[in-house]
Amino acid sequence: MTSFSRPLVISGPSGTGKSTLLARLFADYPDKFGFSVSHTTRQPRTGETNGKEYHFVSREEFLHLLKENAFIEHAEFSGNLYGTSIAAVNTVQSAGKRCILDIEAQGVRQIKETSLNPVYLFISPPSMHVLQARLTGRGTETETSMQKRIATAVSEMEYAASGAHDIVIVNDDLERAYGIFKTIALGDCTQTDILPEMLKGE
Ligand code: ADP
Ligand code: 5GP
Repeated sequence: MTSFSRPLVISGPSGTGKSTLLARLFADYPDKFGFSVSHTTRQPRTGETNGKEYHFVSREEFLHLLKENAFIEHAEFSGNLYGTSIAAVNTVQSAGKRCILDIEAQGVRQIKETSLNPVYLFISPPSMHVLQARLTGRGTETETSMQKRIATAVSEMEYAASGAHDIVIVNDDLERAYGIFKTIALGDCTQTDILPEMLKGE
């Protein structure tokens, strides 16, 4: 049975390659998939556009929206607030596209309490060393932010190890990972990778 009619929630440690996989998917299938554009209080990175990757808002604006019950879920991550608005999901779904959400683990837990009923996909790095190298290579984080993101990555991996997700993709080789990702996004959930063992001391 195809799962194309259900939203797709992707999560995984910062730097694992979620945005890279998503950018390829949206470029390949602009009419099939729509991104749930979250709100965040973090600063835009070079190349990010307000309304595309995120709605960039102040903490005050975010808290106002929260009070108005605008969010399906929200979380604090690495010192910034992030949230999925009801409107973000509705915009994609009313356009008749499969809605894809990119959210961290606290958000996944909250979505599980709603009626959204998505497929949960975890994008794993092949190892913590590789994850750290990718985050460093991206060049977007300060040393402090990097340390926070790596520390959070450990708990994201532990949450995945608890079996919280329907499918796992190990983003080792990009072509291989994208091949599986595309198949899953198109509705075939029969493939899954095995989550690598990752210890805090790695
Ligand atoms: P995320 O969205 O999960 O935080 P990104 O998509 O920004 O991660 O990827 C982090 C960095 O790793 C980027 O510089 C990206 O080009 C690189 N990257 C992503 N996937 C791979 C891969 N399979 N092999 C090598 N580098 C990758
Ligand atoms: P980044 O700052 O690297 O864009 O994102 C940091 C983390 O926040 C990533 O794990 C990403 O999945 C997560 N994230 C992005 N948007 C949301 C959201 O709306 N809700 C939640 N809970 N997490 C989000």
